[in-house]
Amino acid sequence: GLPPYDDANIFARILRGEIPCRKIHEDDHALAFHDINPQAPVHVLVIPKGQYVSVADFSASATDAEVAGFWRAVAKVAKDLGLEQSGYRVLTNMGSDGGQEVPHFHIHIFGGRPIGRMVP
Ligand code: 5GP
Repeated sequence: GLPPYDDANIFARILRGEIPCRKIHEDDHALAFHDINPQAPVHVLVIPKGQYVSVADFSASATDAEVAGFWRAVAKVAKDLGLEQSGYRVLTNMGSDGGQEVPHFHIHIFGGRPIGRMVP
């Protein structure tokens, strides 16, 4: 089964304001901030405020309002960063094979250059 949520993870600490982030957007359901180790000219993370380990947990357990609010925030952040014309990539890593490092569900937004294809 899925691991339990660990409220000591780094994104939980960011949500509680215990460690700083370069915040882009915050609303009832989502927080967006710049990735500390950017892999593209724009590399942003969007996280739900609720305690969900991964996309699996979020999809199974979040309310419809949380899911809708989260995805609207993802698209709004990309648009507000000026990425809508040129395009961008959204990505989530899940679990061990997905290479997930932080066990609080998050979406990466990459943009500002052609991102290329990801071939496993
Ligand atoms: P994952 O592999 O879990 O999808 O990616 C986690 C991401 O979080 C990585 O891109 C990493 O650079 C980013 N990250 C890890 N710790 C911090 C932090 O303390 N602050 C910020 N802004 N990003 C972080």
